[in-house]
Amino acid sequence: MKAVYIFGAGASAAEGAPVVRNFFRMAYRYFKEEQYDAGLEIVWEFLEHFYGKRSVISSGSDLDRYPGIDEIFNIVDWYLLHNQAFSARFPQKRLDDLKTALVKLISMTLDRSLPPDNSIHRSFVLRALQESREVPTFISLNYDIVLDRAIRAAGCRPEYGFYGSHRDHLGQAGQVPLYKLHGSLNWSFCPLCGEIAEHNEKVAHLLFSENSPIVCMNCGGANPQAVIIAPTLYKSYKISRLQNVWDSACAAISQCDRLVVIGYSLDPADTSIIATLKRALNAPDKNREIVVINPSRRTCGRYRQIFGNGCKIKCRPFTGELF
Ligand SMILES: [Zn+2]
Repeated sequence: MKAVYIFGAGASAAEGAPVVRNFFRMAYRYFKEEQYDAGLEIVWEFLEHFYGKRSVISSGSDLDRYPGIDEIFNIVDWYLLHNQAFSARFPQKRLDDLKTALVKLISMTLDRSLPPDNSIHRSFVLRALQESREVPTFISLNYDIVLDRAIRAAGCRPEYGFYGSHRDHLGQAGQVPLYKLHGSLNWSFCPLCGEIAEHNEKVAHLLFSENSPIVCMNCGGANPQAVIIAPTLYKSYKISRLQNVWDSACAAISQCDRLVVIGYSLDPADTSIIATLKRALNAPDKNREIVVINPSRRTCGRYRQIFGNGCKIKCRPFTGELF
């Protein structure tokens, strides 16, 4: 049986990662209150001026009224991609610095909150690999490298799908397809040759800055960029290697007999994901088992809206058990 597992933010949250709505609060506590990081000051300054005149932020809970980190990231990215400024205080150059700081904040906050062993993912991946004769495919919507580490811990290598087709990715011994649709903290993109390089550890927070120690592994070009893609702006990036990742994910879903979606909110704004999923499931339209694991009743209702009554809903948190 060909199985595809899709992991959303809720899966990483099971290991202790913050979710969108409390991300800023946790980051503030870690890197403003407990262990001050000057490089993130621009984030707090931007948020203090988000509503126009300065509104003081004096504790993490003050950040609960703000949009989530993904939306702030989206808005900043929009200006950069469209060559626009946010305000007199935040012209493009500062927005560039702000994006660097936001990537750093995401990377550092995940690093601080996720335990190094990621035991839930580890045991899940190990069982998924052991219990099926066919190599399963993992699709992640998260930037963290929890699944990547779990695949390595199982003695395999993640195949990110930058080149070739899904069938090629399945054919290599010791390789497990892991398609990360929104990028990854351990990838760097070279704007000179267009290649994405994979690194063993997180590098995203080292990129962007003028003195970045990372150079392109393919052409030696300086200034590789982080591959952290705001979901709604995916189409604007035009990174062809990433297009291959999406195509491979689409092929994996089309060919699978069993699709398991773990901890993904299926937000109505995620049109690119929803449209991709629906299209893949229609090519061809065959009998597949669709299983949803999500603790939110409201989200479970969303799945019925999008996938109909045929999908099996397990309204509970992800604990690592194989479904
Ligand atoms: Zn290059």
